[in-house]
Amino acid sequence: MKVLISADMEGTCGVVSWVQVMPPEVVAGVEPSSTAEYERARARMTAEVNAAIEGALAGGADEVIVNDSHDGMRNLLPDDLHPACRWISGNDKPLGMVQGVDLDGIGAVFYTGYHAKAGTPAAPLAHTWTGFLNDVRVAGRSVGEYGINALVAGHFGVPVALVTGDDQAVAQTRALLGDGVVGVVVKEGYSTFAALHLHPQEARRRIRAGAEEAARTAKDLRPWTLPAGCRIELEFDHQSRADQAAYIPTVARSGERAVAFAPQDGLAFAHTFRAVMKAATVRMSP
Ligand SMILES: [Zn+2]
Repeated sequence: MKVLISADMEGTCGVVSWVQVMPPEVVAGVEPSSTAEYERARARMTAEVNAAIEGALAGGADEVIVNDSHDGMRNLLPDDLHPACRWISGNDKPLGMVQGVDLDGIGAVFYTGYHAKAGTPAAPLAHTWTGFLNDVRVAGRSVGEYGINALVAGHFGVPVALVTGDDQAVAQTRALLGDGVVGVVVKEGYSTFAALHLHPQEARRRIRAGAEEAARTAKDLRPWTLPAGCRIELEFDHQSRADQAAYIPTVARSGERAVAFAPQDGLAFAHTFRAVMKAATVRMSP
């Protein structure tokens, strides 16, 4: 069995601020100290991914593919990655945060550095995909990135076996996908911008142990698949985003700030979701 690691950054131990997860080109003009904080956080993100790789291999995985899943998706430090892995980087991937799940032999997806869904109180950097998406509802159920990505993985018959991140990211993922998903909490949130953290070494020790257990138990999990015709609704922060998204032929206005569509399967969901998010990325003051 091969394992795909979907590596996000906000749920990394020690991270509580956007400054820590924004690559320098995003924050041009900020103080150099901010860039230094990003550099420290990406090194810690890479170390957590390495802990997950070590655990996966110890638990019986033949190979581990890592998909850099945060922002521009060029955060991991390749020279510092575990030498046994291959890795995917760069943005605009057709399968987004679970690019690689369609590769031959992938038997489990591991989420590392994950965060809670938009709107969650007391959850560090909680959001869904980007700042302007207020909610994603699958057949009426509100989900975050852990749900979006599970549906895409499910289309390829692959279950999510591990989630690491803050306490609410772990709780929300397991509430949606089941207690069979191994959860590793590296910090407990006080607010959107504060948390009580484990020591980074202890976080990595627990991630390694969780990943080993997840690799061993993944075969017992069932993927989360999208029922045909299931209604997906996306709610934005502003009506102008819904205006634009509703121009997509298979997408309809469903509320003042919301659109809905009913994809035939998880792959159609992935593609329509991407199109909707691109369309909704509009300037607020043209
Ligand atoms: Zn992210």
